[in-house]
Amino acid sequence: MSHTVSRAFISFRIGTPLWMPEERFRETLSLLEEHRGVTDEVTFFTSETHPPLPLPVIEERAALLARRMPEVRRLGYRTGINVLSTVGHHNENLPNSLSGNYTPMTDIDGSVCRGSFCPNDERLREYIRRLYELVAMAEPDYLWIDDDVRLWGHMPIRCGCFCDTCLALFAQESGTRYTRDSLRQALGSGPLEGKLALRRAWLQHNRETMARLFRLIEETVHRVKPGLPLGFMTGERYFEGYDFDAWAAILAGPEGAEVLWRPGGGFYSDEALAGLIGKAHDIGRQVSLLPESVRCIESEIENFPYQRLKKSARTTALEAAAHIAAGCTGAAFNVLSMYDEPLDEYRPLVAHLRETRPFLDLLVRTFGRYQPVGLHTGWGKETFAAGNAVQGDWFESSPWSASAHAAEVLEIGIPVAYSPGQARVTALSGESAYAMTDEEIRRILSGGALLDAQALEALNALGYEELTGYRVERFVHEDCIEVLTGHPLNGEFAGRRRDGRQSFWKCPAAVLVPTQEGAQALARMVDYGDREVAACCQGVFENRLGGRVGVAGYYPWLFLQSLSKSTQVKRLLRWLSRETLPGFVATFHKATLWLREPESGLLAAAVLNASLDPAEGLTLLLRTPHEQARVYDMQCRETTITASGVDGPYRRFVLPPIGAWEMRIVVAQ
Ligand SMILES: [Zn+2]
Repeated sequence: MSHTVSRAFISFRIGTPLWMPEERFRETLSLLEEHRGVTDEVTFFTSETHPPLPLPVIEERAALLARRMPEVRRLGYRTGINVLSTVGHHNENLPNSLSGNYTPMTDIDGSVCRGSFCPNDERLREYIRRLYELVAMAEPDYLWIDDDVRLWGHMPIRCGCFCDTCLALFAQESGTRYTRDSLRQALGSGPLEGKLALRRAWLQHNRETMARLFRLIEETVHRVKPGLPLGFMTGERYFEGYDFDAWAAILAGPEGAEVLWRPGGGFYSDEALAGLIGKAHDIGRQVSLLPESVRCIESEIENFPYQRLKKSARTTALEAAAHIAAGCTGAAFNVLSMYDEPLDEYRPLVAHLRETRPFLDLLVRTFGRYQPVGLHTGWGKETFAAGNAVQGDWFESSPWSASAHAAEVLEIGIPVAYSPGQARVTALSGESAYAMTDEEIRRILSGGALLDAQALEALNALGYEELTGYRVERFVHEDCIEVLTGHPLNGEFAGRRRDGRQSFWKCPAAVLVPTQEGAQALARMVDYGDREVAACCQGVFENRLGGRVGVAGYYPWLFLQSLSKSTQVKRLLRWLSRETLPGFVATFHKATLWLREPESGLLAAAVLNASLDPAEGLTLLLRTPHEQARVYDMQCRETTITASGVDGPYRRFVLPPIGAWEMRIVVAQ
């Protein structure tokens, strides 16, 4: 299948307060028409609150939508329905929501969310069948299933479903009958291997719960409207087993209908802009699991609760660009009012999104469905199984600590990869290795691997000490300062210090001991009296498989943004990858980099200056034989630059200045 996509897929999602009242519906359409081209699709929410609605309410709204959608279609937009609530989400608006003899989403302690129901409950499945019949009969161009379809995060509980029906299903699947208590016990104690096997079995059970629900929706909808495209909105779905490719295949149905995807996350305001980058990486991970056949990947851009001053127009547009850089082929804007009120205050936002549209199209044309190449964090569908693997409660663990830990490494201009196939270096944190197969671990350790001390301990415990080159002697919890050694990778920064201030930001520092010949220290540790605490807290080792391993025992993922440390980390990654990274930001800038190699010799990059200072003289080293690169700013203005030198396999390209929180596309060809 071709990787190219000709332009962005852009959608606006419209809440019930804007489409149900006649006057507001007209005003919403004219706002879009005034900025014609800002969107290709107009998608209608079924509800403004998250628990499922009673069927008579759905019936009434579907009938109104059946009248609204042809009007929208006449204006030249595709139009469809976004079912906000299938199983439900959160305790909200309960008096006006679905009630009756349905099993609530139940956690391992037996606590429930009353706004969310068990997807395996036959009565709820009957409700869902009727719900999707009603919306399909309204003749939409497509139907979206929203992100309430999940098992994690239905407040006030953390995860479900552990109701009696689900436990009985698991008894059939596993051959063991558990109570909630005995299951929790078995998932969190006993020998490691048994515990991990049971967790894997529960993740598989969750995958099948999701699959069963999707099969019901697919059969229902395609019985009413054969071939109707179905879309699903996700977040990172570790607990559900992250089975996106399998779920996409189910939603396509036996006839292979089009499947749409909307990867999402949580980023709602300008207050912490780093969240924009974090969400883009969350989204990149989600996209990486989608089959090539999924072409329309519209990231969720959500400004909930939609107060205009909370998130600027620039941020909203940049978000869409960052999500496309991470792998999407479009964006779905959910940014207008959640009230029946005039939309005047949203005009500048819609105008700015219209102005940015050509840049979004250019990004999609440049990157298509090619995946970014660079640093991978070792996460996978099974990652959640390894949470608190050795000790502790599985339900208290967080999968994000084993997938998003390398954020600062990526902030200094190392390119990101979201799938192992595109990894030039793998950065492992914590216990995630326990969820991996021997084959996966050997692949990582025979390439370039960056490990924190906990990852080192996990790999050694699994029997890979000969390949890692180090062991942890002990952890020191106070007063440690890192000092760079005279190793060539440190170069002119030998003797430079880095103090993570353990008294403020708790982070145990590892005393590392080499276990193999040839292991070399990159840093040692001293205390405030300059006494040596450890001869090594960071080291490198080349193993017999030809793999290059870097172990970082001192604030491995935090405080990497001084000139000395960021330069060392870049040199280290270049060494670990054996110079196979397709490129990186060589200068001292805070920049996020997505790089693709669409074909041999052709390199396409998106560079985001993630600083309020303009990036002057930002220099990319690109592994390309080409002397020239085209640079596009967010107004699509093109500049051609010429390489200013060679550094090993890389050519050096100095970019024109990049404004604060702006992106550039760079194509070397
Ligand atoms: Zn259940």
